[in-house]
Amino acid sequence: MNIKSYTIALILFLLQLSYSCTNKTKEEKADTIIKENTASYKLGNRTIIFKTYTTSTDKSIYFNMHDDENTAVEAAISVLNKISGKLIEIKASGERLISFNMDTAIYKFDPNRIYTPAGRKATLERYSRYTPQADSAVEKFARYITDTLLQNADIIIALHNNTPDNYSILSYSENGEYAADAAKVYISPQQDPDDFFYVTQDDFYKKISKKGYNVLLQDNAKVTDDGSLSVYCGTKGIKYINVEAQKGHTQQQKAMIMAIQDIISTKTVD
Ligand SMILES: [Zn+2]
Repeated sequence: MNIKSYTIALILFLLQLSYSCTNKTKEEKADTIIKENTASYKLGNRTIIFKTYTTSTDKSIYFNMHDDENTAVEAAISVLNKISGKLIEIKASGERLISFNMDTAIYKFDPNRIYTPAGRKATLERYSRYTPQADSAVEKFARYITDTLLQNADIIIALHNNTPDNYSILSYSENGEYAADAAKVYISPQQDPDDFFYVTQDDFYKKISKKGYNVLLQDNAKVTDDGSLSVYCGTKGIKYINVEAQKGHTQQQKAMIMAIQDIISTKTVD
């Protein structure tokens, strides 16, 4: 074989190799069809976008409500073909807080403090001011989320990020700032305290702690009413899990999402 025919043979071999690799990738992805769509909600003068990725008819909903917590969304999107149900993401100009104009006044609130009357009042007062009109508009927005977007969810999996040494599983340990809100806390010596699960049902607490992750069970009877989705779900008996990881801990948050997917897709006999 001369150099020329050797080169041609090599090129043909490489072409065949790349063709078979491309085909394999297509085959692997063929079983999960990801449908993307957007919904919009008008709040005063503001339009808030909800982006939804649907992977199956399963009723698990992964929900990212703080638009500045991008690690959570990156992690979920990177394993989207392995999760069943939906991922919903709020698009609010990349910010945690949502502001809107109504009757010439500006209002601002935290979208994770609006699911109870006490929470709405406190968040409007903290970031702008409370008026019955603004409260009513934000209440409708909260109901749109719980009664339309999250309607019929078997389980809600909230996706959040935090910053180092601020809010962590240690906030719920004895003498922690939020110790009174937790019924049980498991702190793993192997895990970063900033990466933890927050659940409203004991069944999930047991399964997650068994896997060796940091986890706390909300005390649904005594938890402070701050209007967050966990408080709302705790009151209503809705299965809720928050996958909370430090900003930038993408690999860890991916593993945590897969751990939840494993738990919810494994049917256990009671
Ligand atoms: Zn958050």
